Amino acid sequence: MKLYNTLTKREEEFKPIEEGKVRMYVCGPTVYNLIHIGNARPMILFDTVRRYFEYKGYEVSYVSNFTDVDDKIIAKAIEEGSTSEEVAERYIEECKKDMAAMNVRPATVHPRATQEIDGMIEMIRTLIDKGYAYPAEDGTVYFRTRKFDGYGKLSHKNIDDLEGGHRSIQVTGNLKEDPLDFVLWKPKKEGEPYWESPWCQGRPGWHIECSVMSKKYLGDEIDIHAGGEDLVFPHHENEIAQSEAANGKPFAHYWMHNAFLNIDNKKMSKSLGNFFTVRDIQEKYDLQVLRFFMISAHYRSPLNFSDELMEAAKNGLERILNAADMLRRHMEKPEDALLEGEAEVLAGTDAFVGKFEASMEDDFNTADAVSAVFELVKYINTSLKEDSSRALAEGFYQKLQMLCDILGIIIERKEEVLDEEIEALIAARQEARKAKDFAKADEIRDKLKDMGILLKDTREGVTWTRA
Ligand code: AMP
Ligand code: ZN
Repeated sequence: MKLYNTLTKREEEFKPIEEGKVRMYVCGPTVYNLIHIGNARPMILFDTVRRYFEYKGYEVSYVSNFTDVDDKIIAKAIEEGSTSEEVAERYIEECKKDMAAMNVRPATVHPRATQEIDGMIEMIRTLIDKGYAYPAEDGTVYFRTRKFDGYGKLSHKNIDDLEGGHRSIQVTGNLKEDPLDFVLWKPKKEGEPYWESPWCQGRPGWHIECSVMSKKYLGDEIDIHAGGEDLVFPHHENEIAQSEAANGKPFAHYWMHNAFLNIDNKKMSKSLGNFFTVRDIQEKYDLQVLRFFMISAHYRSPLNFSDELMEAAKNGLERILNAADMLRRHMEKPEDALLEGEAEVLAGTDAFVGKFEASMEDDFNTADAVSAVFELVKYINTSLKEDSSRALAEGFYQKLQMLCDILGIIIERKEEVLDEEIEALIAARQEARKAKDFAKADEIRDKLKDMGILLKDTREGVTWTRA
């Protein structure tokens, strides 16, 4: 299996540290808002990478963090008069709902920065002991960037060029020894969340969080570290410096980075007004369509989001789902065995499975893998006849499902729950509540939840959303 490694700028054969196992860490979102479709790109792509490794028989430990302490979270809490814990908790829950709707499987562990502070203090202490970090007068702890040989190896930057670019930046109070040094721990400001530490009451810098969470859940040395390409510098470069300096071992063997998702060929940004949350898309599309749209392009190519491309993704997905419907109808026939000659017809699917695998093994070329699925669909559509056996339809279905499952595409049709049915159940629950039959009210709420309908009691009445 070949994958492109940002560290070496080459496609490399994947060799796990431990036979049959993959340890991977994917930088997760900062939770101050609903996730946007840009954040959804790494989630969907690296979930697909994980699924492919599992298909190949690897046991995958997949760790993805939530950054739950950050300036943006604090600003949001101040804006709405709540706390940063409340803001983070809410958006972690919302993020998990979006992930489920995009069929992104929960990570093996989803660590949260605020619950790993002890480990961060410990790593910072080690870095100070080894001479790689120093506390300044105000309690800020800085990483001594120049002391780490190989700084710049991931982003392929020369440390001296970096300094040139930074020299103009005024260093407040000259607390840093060198403008290149970056923060590991910073003192609290009035009203901010803080933790006790040997240096000051404060909070960790962003980069140290990932080094520590990766170490705790996956060990000092891991197979794959991934995230969006904006994270290469400085975030991942600094993670390497911290982890390798503290642990004395190479950190991640392979670094994978997805290119950006743009909207109408422009960078997605709130100020330009071209910004969509995953929830915005869900109003118009089943999120399977968003997933299909994302995997229809190679992860290292920039991807442009537009209505036309989403419509094309919807139509493409529909072609696959229609073939699955047709097979399921055929599978209603009484049980039988393959007819004469059908074993060869079924074996004809091997070519498409082979093409699919070859595409995935070529640096996870999901675009070509999707083409292989389309070819399989075409083959199925032309090979299955009215008088074909049920066994053949089942054989085809199993192949189609196997490939779609790797891509995270569900080919079973969801039972469509009608609005009237939901409204009737909500009315019954209101009746039960009026009659103080809370057990029944809760029962109806749970039933709706099983149907994928979430209720919210507000002062204005009950509102519902599809999970
Ligand atoms: P953040 O919450 O900004 O730290 O982002 C979480 C993840 O989403 C990181 O891996 C980012 O690189 C990635 N990301 C953010 N914006 C985009 C985008 N427009 N396209 C692709 N990936 C993105
Ligand atoms: Zn990270």
